Amino acid sequence: MATLKTKAPAQNDSVFAMAVQQFNAAADKLGLDKGMRAVLSSCKREFTVNFPVKMDNGSVKVFTGHRVQHNVTRGPAKGGIRYHQDVSLDEVKALASWMTWKCAVTNIPYGGGKGGITVNPKDLSKSELERLTRRFATEISPLIGIDSDIPAPDVNTDGQIMAWIMDTISMHSGYTQPGIVTGKPISIGGTLGRTEATGRGVMITAREAAKKQRLSLQGAKVAVQGYGNVGYYGATLLQRQGSKIIAASDSGGGVHNDKGMDAEALQAHKVKTGSVSGYKGGDSITNAELLELPCDILVPAALERQITGKNASKVKAKVIVEGANGPTTPEADAILDSKGVVVVPDILANAGGVVVSYFEWVQDLQRFFWDKDDVDKKLEAVLTKSFDQVMALSAKHKTNMRTAALVLAVQRVAEATTIRGIYP
Ligand code: NAD
Repeated sequence: MATLKTKAPAQNDSVFAMAVQQFNAAADKLGLDKGMRAVLSSCKREFTVNFPVKMDNGSVKVFTGHRVQHNVTRGPAKGGIRYHQDVSLDEVKALASWMTWKCAVTNIPYGGGKGGITVNPKDLSKSELERLTRRFATEISPLIGIDSDIPAPDVNTDGQIMAWIMDTISMHSGYTQPGIVTGKPISIGGTLGRTEATGRGVMITAREAAKKQRLSLQGAKVAVQGYGNVGYYGATLLQRQGSKIIAASDSGGGVHNDKGMDAEALQAHKVKTGSVSGYKGGDSITNAELLELPCDILVPAALERQITGKNASKVKAKVIVEGANGPTTPEADAILDSKGVVVVPDILANAGGVVVSYFEWVQDLQRFFWDKDDVDKKLEAVLTKSFDQVMALSAKHKTNMRTAALVLAVQRVAEATTIRGIYP
């Protein structure tokens, strides 16, 4: 039996340390006391499970997974489940903390959680993936629940995986629990507009940031790193606003064409071949090269720490819209600030997904479903309001949008913590 164990990273390698560093910048602006800082920079629950899965060839493999609840003061923990070979407890803690701030910045009544399994799902057959998912759902069932912790899709997970989690938990309880996960297929209680919601949020926040920069989306050159759920829908919706997708990439490599490439044709190529790489309408580039291309809007929509102290000075985009969580390090933020690049931070730029997940959960609880137009309009209202509030705080505190967004979020969670008090 093979076991995949995750090690605690050194401080420099720690994504969670990076999240805490970002939090501390906002805590400084708010003058938070030591006790409140300690509460808000710790994860409330960190749950690791090592569990066996029967493989198709009859062998048994042990996998490691995590579910972390960073903070549940404002409501149930909410956050996706990631399947990736680099998943670690440290990464899941960082992602859970960003979820707390994302839900608070958009003022939806959730706390932050996240989960993940250290696995490359491309190595598994569909039936192995189903057994892995159902066993993991069972292992984390002490934590997840409609009122306690509600998973959703993230990197390499989708509606089918959510359906298996929902079915597994429903089989345990003996009745159907649609509200246990979001990002489900429509036929089992999903909402219209969820699949593209994160990409729609990327488009909305890119549009608002472009307005501030006196940049028109019409004809704007856009480069997208990570052509998955967030990257593809973000690109498609920006293209509908008249922008040109000049570059796209995924784990297989990237393509570039300064005249623009059709977002749907890129996706069709990816569906057919497994990657945007090799698309005939553009020249081959690497993921690193994509980040440094001359463009108006850069959308990192893959993984953490792509824009760092090493490459930030070479970034030529005027606006960065963080489709991914944590793509920019604090060192890179300082360099981008000094160059006048506007960075729409992850907790705002990719919040469209969790906002529509919240709408899905509300519809599931009420057994009453909305039109797509209703979903899209309500998302637009939430994101533009949050965007304006962040801009106002950015001006007030003379700080970048990341710290301003965190000021708004941290203030809301700190206020809820104070009013509830410290039990007992
Ligand atoms: P996904 O699995 O649908 O797509 C991820 C894409 O990134 C894939 O195309 C993959 O090939 C590519 N990729 C992986 N490693 C890469 C690398 N090293 N360089 C370039 N590309 C690489 O995942 P997703 O749901 O689109 O998530 C992408 C990011 O957006 C993650 O950071 C995730 O946490 C964040 N996010 C997702 C949602 C959501 O609703 N799905 C919501 C908020 C934030």
